[in-house]
Amino acid sequence: MSQSPKIWLSSPHMGSNELRNVQDAFSSNWIAPLGPHVDGFEKDLQDFTGSKHAAALSSGTAAIHLALVILGVQPGDLVICQSMTFSASANPIAYLGAVPVFVDSEENTWNMCPKALEEAILACESGKVSGKKQKPSAIIPVHLYGMPAKMDEIMALAKKHEIPVVEDAAEALGASYKGKACGTFGDMGVLSFNGNKIITTSGGGALLSDTEWMIKKARFLATQARDEAPHYQHSHIGYNYRMSNVLAGIGRGQMEVLPERVAMRRKNFEYYKEALGDLSGISFLKEPEGFYSNRWLTCILVDSKQTRGITREHIREYLLKDNIESRPLWKPMHLQPVFAKAPYFGGKVAEELFENGLCLPSGSNLGEEDLERVVKRVREAVLVG
Ligand SMILES: *Cc1c(COP(=O)(O)O)cnc(C)c1O
Repeated sequence: MSQSPKIWLSSPHMGSNELRNVQDAFSSNWIAPLGPHVDGFEKDLQDFTGSKHAAALSSGTAAIHLALVILGVQPGDLVICQSMTFSASANPIAYLGAVPVFVDSEENTWNMCPKALEEAILACESGKVSGKKQKPSAIIPVHLYGMPAKMDEIMALAKKHEIPVVEDAAEALGASYKGKACGTFGDMGVLSFNGNKIITTSGGGALLSDTEWMIKKARFLATQARDEAPHYQHSHIGYNYRMSNVLAGIGRGQMEVLPERVAMRRKNFEYYKEALGDLSGISFLKEPEGFYSNRWLTCILVDSKQTRGITREHIREYLLKDNIESRPLWKPMHLQPVFAKAPYFGGKVAEELFENGLCLPSGSNLGEEDLERVVKRVREAVLVG
C-alpha cells in the first residue's frame, strides 16, 4: 500500500491574494525589511485579535525571546513554562541563561495545570527551587493544538504573585477563551506563522500586547537596537528579528482566509470524531464551556487497555505504511534530555498524554477522500491490528 499519495500532518494552504501581494512587493521594490505590507499585516493581526499593538517578527521563537528580554529576564532567573509543548516555548529561557521551571498539564485542556502552577510559584518564592527566595520572572502558558489554557485561573495566580505572563499562542490563532482571542490575555502574546501552523508566511511570528512601550521596544530590539543617529549607534544589544515586507504580503493574504481555515480545521475535527468516536479506547479532547479551539491539529488518545493492546505507535506506523503522516503529541520538556536537570512540578498528565496521544492529518487543504483514507486506516489499525 505504499503507492498512495502522501497525506501530510499539516501543510501550507495559500489563498488567492498571497501571490498578488508578493508581486506587489516586487513591483514596488519593497523587498527589504520593512514596508507597507508589514504595517498592514500588523494592523490585520490587531483587528483580528483585538490586541492594541502587534509587531511582525521573523518567528514565534524570536517573539518569545524578545518578550523575555523586554521583561528583563536575567541569567539565573526562574521562568515557569508549560512542560507539554514544543521546545520553542522553552528554548528562549535558556538563550538568556535563565532556568526553566516546568509545570504539568491538566486533563480538560492539556495545558498548564493551575494547581501545579501555584505549587511551582510557591516553591520558587520559598527558596525550594534554587536555594534562595526567588519570584519567577515570567510564566509561559501555551494553548496547545489551538485549545485555550485555563486563563482565568492562570491570570489570577499571575496577578496575585505579580508575575508577568508571556502567552504562547503560536498554535492558537483564531482560538478564543470566553470570547477573547488567545494571545491577548498575557502581558505579551506570541503568534507563529511557521509552515505547519494554521496560517503561514513560510516562516514568521508576531508579538502582541496592549502595552505600547513593549511593542515599540520589540520593534527596536528586532531591528538591531539602533539609537537615533545618522550613523550606527547602539546602547543595547540588538537582534535581527523583523519580518520582511515580502513575507508580510503573504501574511496579509492569509489573514483574509483565516476564518475559513479555522472552519476547515474544526470541520476536520468533527469529521474524525464522527467517524472514529465509536471505537472503544479512542477519545478526543472536548471543548469545555467557553473554550473555542481552532482545532489546529486533531488529536486522539489511545487507551491500549481498551484496544486489545493497540497503541498510538501501532496506529502511527500503520498509517505511515499507507503514506499518511501522523505524530505523537509533544514530548514534555521535563522528559527531554536537554532539560533533564530542570525543576518540574505536577504529576504524570503530560507524560501520559505523550504516551497515548496521536495527532492526525489536520490540514485545511485535506479533501474528503483524504479524510476517508485516514479514517479507514485508523479503523483497520484499531480493529484488525
Ligand atoms: C510553532 C511553535 C512555536 C515557535 O514558532 P516558530 O515560528 O516556529 O519559531 C512556539 N511555541 C509553540 C507551542 C509552537 O507550536
